Amino acid sequence: MKATIIHGAGDIRVESVPDPTIHKPTDALVRVVRACICGSDLWPYRSMPASPEGARIGHEFLGFIEDVGADVAGFKAGDLVVAPFVWSDGTCDFCQEGLQTSCRHGGLWARDGIDGGQGEAVRVPQAQGTLVKLPVGDDSALLASLLTLSDVFPTGYHCAQTAGVGPGSMVTVIGDGAVGLSAVLSAKRLGAERIILMGRHKDRTDLGREFGATDVVAERGDEGVEKVRALTGGDGTHKVLECVGLKEAIETAFAVVRDGGTVSRVGAPQYDEVPMDFGVFMRNVTLTGGVAPARAYIDKLLPDVLEGKIQPGKVFDRTVSLDDIAVGYQAMANRTALKVVVQP
Ligand SMILES: [Zn+2]
Repeated sequence: MKATIIHGAGDIRVESVPDPTIHKPTDALVRVVRACICGSDLWPYRSMPASPEGARIGHEFLGFIEDVGADVAGFKAGDLVVAPFVWSDGTCDFCQEGLQTSCRHGGLWARDGIDGGQGEAVRVPQAQGTLVKLPVGDDSALLASLLTLSDVFPTGYHCAQTAGVGPGSMVTVIGDGAVGLSAVLSAKRLGAERIILMGRHKDRTDLGREFGATDVVAERGDEGVEKVRALTGGDGTHKVLECVGLKEAIETAFAVVRDGGTVSRVGAPQYDEVPMDFGVFMRNVTLTGGVAPARAYIDKLLPDVLEGKIQPGKVFDRTVSLDDIAVGYQAMANRTALKVVVQP
């Protein structure tokens, strides 16, 4: 089959790889119908040292089950399923606690011999715990929104949820990428009354307004902080959702959070130290967030997507074929695309 291999910064290729087969009785084989490119795929795309053998990539996909191992119950060939970006057994103590990202028998896609999502097919380990059946066909208009359940939408939701966003909340969302916009949509769904979106790409912040942002702050750094404070009587907001992962973004988060408030971060951090100095201590600011256990949120979010109440799939603004996936990476890296769907 064909799969995407990254050979270094800027070097994405589609190559022939061995067809996946069932290795363990807990495996399933999934034929990919839709995959997508994640903002976190852009980190290796920008910085990976050149590698002749390369590495698989991709962790967001949905597709049809082709075969299941003997221990996989509740799924059969032909079922359309979505996979979260971490696979997990669904039975260990962490999974039972809703923290499938810490599963004792789980792991990441495209690592240690596991297929990546950006290919024609995937061997899914721990299939019964990992996969979620989708009650639609592959012609469904909902496919784009269903695909967001693999990562981007639950990640935004995790940010709002761990920050404690609820009815009447005042929220600042930092970042107008697909995760930031998903966080806006999530904050709105959780009842936030005011949502200030910090982002400087107008087409993206326009979608943010459609998702529920009440204010947009295009300025960055100190200027952006002042603007948010001016909008909030000088104090900032109780909830701040950091959806970028850069040092400047987490610094901005602490600068716009109201004393006693909460900063949640879901942008994969590209910094080693969190700026929680004595000043932040004196303001009683809480830091939360982390990697989103997407599997835990899918059950909660799926009904709203199926009923069309929310359309997180609007974050996709470009579709490419698997053969053209390098074009998709380029478009996301140079910001001519917000988020790219890959159709094998
Ligand atoms: Zn587990």
